[in-house]
Amino acid sequence: MTERPAGRSTAPLPVLVLATHNKGKLRELRELLRGQVPGLDVDTQVVDAGAVGAPDVVETGVTFAENSLLKARAVAQATGLVAIADDSGLSVDVLGGAPGIFSARWAGRHGDDAANLQLLLAQLADVPDEYRGAAFVCAAALAVPGTSPEDGHEVVEYGQLEGTLLREPRGAGGFGYDPVLQPTGLDRSCAELSPEEKNAISHRGQAFRALLPAIVEALAGR
Ligand code: IMP
Repeated sequence: MTERPAGRSTAPLPVLVLATHNKGKLRELRELLRGQVPGLDVDTQVVDAGAVGAPDVVETGVTFAENSLLKARAVAQATGLVAIADDSGLSVDVLGGAPGIFSARWAGRHGDDAANLQLLLAQLADVPDEYRGAAFVCAAALAVPGTSPEDGHEVVEYGQLEGTLLREPRGAGGFGYDPVLQPTGLDRSCAELSPEEKNAISHRGQAFRALLPAIVEALAGR
């Protein structure tokens, strides 16, 4: 791992950036990587975008994969560090996969979780239970700095959490559409699961776990 010269701060330098300002996502990634890469101190060397002044990226892609790659690539280029990004959302069967990449701003204002959820429930008010299938989906991308999109140093993996949309929000945990998605085989909404239970089955957890071998390889020798 890269170290600062002797006589300076003893904290090792960051080597991996997660292109997010979401501390929950950073915590999840650190736990996933803990003990997986020899010599990597996940608590100081795996950081979020704010810690290294990485830019916010406009998500101009039209798929989760494109948007995750745009973010990872931009942060890798700006920082010179290996970068990871995820892009995720809710895909509703009867809406043909919407809200999809528009999940965060479905009701018009980015990040207004309550309005997004209420609009979705109103749109599906008359849809019978058997047609209320939906899934959280996630693409997680890794980009190695100084490489081009063609030379194999970009990787995208996917995860999906399938379930049914409830008619009323349930539970106080989680965020976004968690209170209305009940994962298949469970009798609780995602907002009624503990963070550990959610991480174990979540779309993001699956995508990050699938990306793990590529992360380990990218960090080897850095
Ligand atoms: P982002 O990829 O973190 O920006 O997520 C985009 C949007 O998708 C969020 O604002 C939420 O509305 C929705 N979303 C993504 N993942 C989840 C989840 O695990 N639970 C609830 N909503 C989610």
